[in-house]
Amino acid sequence: MPDDHVAAFAPYVPPPLRALSWRAHPLDGKLLLFERDSGLNMLLEGEETAQLQRVAPRTLLIAVTNACDLHCPFCYRDRRSRSLWRYDSLLQFCQDADHWGVLEVAFGGGEPMLFPRWETFIRELYSSTRLAINFTTNGTHLSEAFLHAIAGCYGQIRLSLYEDNAWEQTVALLVHVNARFGVNWLITPGELSRIETKFRRLLQLGVRDVLLLGYKGSDEPELHLNPVERQKLAAFVRDAYARLGQGVTLKLDVCWGDSLYGVPTLFGGGDCGGGDDFLSITSDRRVKPCSFHGGGIPFETFDELRAYWQQRRALREAARVGGCARLPGRGLAATEEGQVRLCV
Ligand code: SF4
Repeated sequence: MPDDHVAAFAPYVPPPLRALSWRAHPLDGKLLLFERDSGLNMLLEGEETAQLQRVAPRTLLIAVTNACDLHCPFCYRDRRSRSLWRYDSLLQFCQDADHWGVLEVAFGGGEPMLFPRWETFIRELYSSTRLAINFTTNGTHLSEAFLHAIAGCYGQIRLSLYEDNAWEQTVALLVHVNARFGVNWLITPGELSRIETKFRRLLQLGVRDVLLLGYKGSDEPELHLNPVERQKLAAFVRDAYARLGQGVTLKLDVCWGDSLYGVPTLFGGGDCGGGDDFLSITSDRRVKPCSFHGGGIPFETFDELRAYWQQRRALREAARVGGCARLPGRGLAATEEGQVRLCV
């Protein structure tokens, strides 16, 4: 990250906020301030920021391994991909990302808890960079000892809710140790039919951060919501937002795009940011705009990765799968019977 931007904008940070370690991340015409330990963001825009240009994506989504001990039928990862990252190569890669100006890494896979020496890795990455460290897990390998060991060294743990991963027990553990976590919840038609009940259960258990994901894929049309179901989900979100007290966060996956009518948004719609705001790095060292793009471009050096971002960030490439907001109608259409038809 260019230090000149930090120096140039230091006078605009109000004194009470100086106790936090704000990091400046120039965007095109704006300046984002981010604090990794609190997760706070501040977006500045005005005459002083008009000349700024983005120099790096905000986040890298990194598949640290392709191994997983669950067998979810809807998993989007390419099961043939090899797991090429090793402790040292991954650490160096993330340190290079930090120097580039990336603010956050979000590790997934596969199951990142299966990465060798994961606890040590998180602690070393935290102490050797300014990155916020997040990871998504199925939760089956989390333990109290592990969570205590990484306390203070990560931004958020994202727990995926599946039918077979005993997530209620994992939530209880995360609450018990006061972990910073949220849940990722795939909203299929089946899940939509029990959304109120399950949402109440999550709140009862102590969950305070819920991300609602839509299915991305062209293989199983029945996992996508049809237009009527999307209206129902939008109504749930609007109603929940109105009822929720402070301290509970309800988030929507960027791939919903503008398909959920009337839901409150922070920044008023816009592009998902795939390929520009964030990049997806596979377990076999390929780079893609987001995790749902097929293929990807292999890279060896960090300079190759940087060049990929600079050359392609403006392309706004769609993932050729049903559910991508960059496709007309998200690559979906309704049949005469009201079911979902894929048209990617
Ligand atoms: S490119 Fe499509 S699938 Fe990927 S994050 Fe953006 S909207 Fe979602």
